[in-house]
Amino acid sequence: FACDVIRNFSIIAHIDHGKSTLADRLLELTGTIKKKEIGKNEQVLDKLKVERERGITGACLSALLLPILTGIVKAQTASMVHSVNGRRHILNLIDTPGHVDFSWEVSRSLAACQGALLLVDASQGVQAQSISVFHIAQERGLKIIPVLNKIDLPAAQPERIAAQMQSTFGTDPADIIRISAKTGQGVDEVLQAIIDRIPPPTGSTEDPLKAFLFDSFYDRYRGVISLVAVQNGVLKKGDRIASYHTRKKYEVTEVGIMHPEETPATSLYPGQVGYIACNMKESSEAHIGDTLHRSGSPVDPMPGFKPAKAMVYAGIFPVESNDFPKLEESIKRLALTDRSVTVQRESSTALGQGCRLGFLGTLHMDVFRQRLEDEHDQNLIITAPTVPYKVVYKDREVFVSNPTEFPDALEVSSKVKEIQEPVVRASIIVPEEYFGDMMDLCFSHRGQDLEHRYLDAGTTGTSSSSRIILNCILPLSEIVTDFFDQLKSRSSGFASFDYEEAGYRPSDLVKMVFLLNSKPVDALALVIHRSKEDEIGRLWVKKLVKVIPRQQFEVPIQAAVGKKIIARETLKAYRADVTGGLYGGHVERKMKQLELQKEGKRRMKRMGTVEMPQEAFFEIMSTN
Ligand code: GDP
Ligand code: MG
Repeated sequence: FACDVIRNFSIIAHIDHGKSTLADRLLELTGTIKKKEIGKNEQVLDKLKVERERGITGACLSALLLPILTGIVKAQTASMVHSVNGRRHILNLIDTPGHVDFSWEVSRSLAACQGALLLVDASQGVQAQSISVFHIAQERGLKIIPVLNKIDLPAAQPERIAAQMQSTFGTDPADIIRISAKTGQGVDEVLQAIIDRIPPPTGSTEDPLKAFLFDSFYDRYRGVISLVAVQNGVLKKGDRIASYHTRKKYEVTEVGIMHPEETPATSLYPGQVGYIACNMKESSEAHIGDTLHRSGSPVDPMPGFKPAKAMVYAGIFPVESNDFPKLEESIKRLALTDRSVTVQRESSTALGQGCRLGFLGTLHMDVFRQRLEDEHDQNLIITAPTVPYKVVYKDREVFVSNPTEFPDALEVSSKVKEIQEPVVRASIIVPEEYFGDMMDLCFSHRGQDLEHRYLDAGTTGTSSSSRIILNCILPLSEIVTDFFDQLKSRSSGFASFDYEEAGYRPSDLVKMVFLLNSKPVDALALVIHRSKEDEIGRLWVKKLVKVIPRQQFEVPIQAAVGKKIIARETLKAYRADVTGGLYGGHVERKMKQLELQKEGKRRMKRMGTVEMPQEAFFEIMSTN
């Protein structure tokens, strides 16, 4: 067996630039799939409602969701066999997630490759994710093959975009392969370049077994299937292996290659990429970036491992408290198939028993919630998303991801040295006419260190407008709510956006609580920046006064930071039926469903002396 016939590569691209289409063409050209199989995945994906709700188009959606929906659709990792001058080559295409929520996983998948095809749409040009994935690939020392796609489009501007790639990536225009993944034009040249330009992996059959786990998916019957790149040694069925990071031991029950479906093989040799099944019960056991070795003979692990880190947290509660066991069961079952969600129990005076879930990002959160609602027929209340704040005491640091646990003003002034919040380095690419709007957007979301430059260096007199790349530091908490929607609407959909974690920065954060008749409602606590206390306080008390039914007495609704009352509304005493027409149109469907289920027996939550129905929580939480 010789490594030198193997090539391990990825396709990296901004969403919609044609990654899936090119992958399909490569699989077809090498005879790995037949033409008619194309599009199978899309049909599954198009059914998801999250698509409509987030306004994501079909093609874009599959790129976004493939890594998340591992329970439904596998990643597009596949092995192909391609002969050149009678010599068989094994080309392993390694799939990478296509969304910023998963940028760390992109980096791990690329660690299994020696090269990458950098795909850029010849009509759209370089976009935010083209740049971020390029940097990841470059840092990993991968051989990058630049490819211009969609040259068949009338709007394609291959010369201009090639110049853009030269100025952005330092690409030699002579190296750029021009293709149409749709028609197949130029794709054979891509295959040839993979063999000619990407170095083969290295490794030895004599060295102790070392395999790199770069992806996993959940199979209903066999449990977790892990995708691995073997570095050294030979991996066979029956081998006893161990995870370097969890120390757990497993017996390999099946090995094989993805061709493109799982195809059993007797063994995997160094340099090869394939799958193993080994009685892992939960996806969370398959740590992306982990190193597998023979049980009892540990090896040096692949460097740079860190477990998937939740960046957005939210509490999930049943609408009917009695439904908690059912809800928890559904959450657990779903979490089995999603390696990156974290689950903890949480209880709230206002909402009862629930779970606190950690997600990689807001898209991840939306998809999980959608699946929970659709597949498990659950009605749920999801609290406002929170990022993990760092509270620095004199002798220790504590991460707080639940506003109820955030220190109050008294504790802050007496014991806390500093509070920090996670920030990201954001980049936005936008046509110049929207530049002002994007600057406003960044400033209103507490952006710092703004800088910008033109993407088309030195190009003048082109018919279409120039594009600008804007970089800044943004607090993560500012982009977990409405940032993305505003970005899209204020740029008429033209802006592309990406971000990477950029550590923590000190910040003047406060805990805001809401009082009903002078009693705080724990489930409504928020962590906000001090500069926004007026704005947010007013907004929320206005929302609350609308959704809480009137009582037999007047009820003050207050927003408070420490002892200071920031905003106040008064809920007038009960007159007639005031619940009719209280709820906004977009929750109407849901409300109808809720009401049907409850058949009139509307359960009130007692909040001190004030009754706050679960529906009011539902309404408040769903209009963030
Ligand atoms: P991905 O998000 O990068 O995986 O992109 P897809 O492969 O899903 O492609 C996005 C959209 O672009 C789809 O509608 C494709 O049919 C289309 N597309 C991909 N490649 C080409 C091409 O070479 N020419 C044209 N005209 N359309 C293409
Ligand atoms: Mg795709």
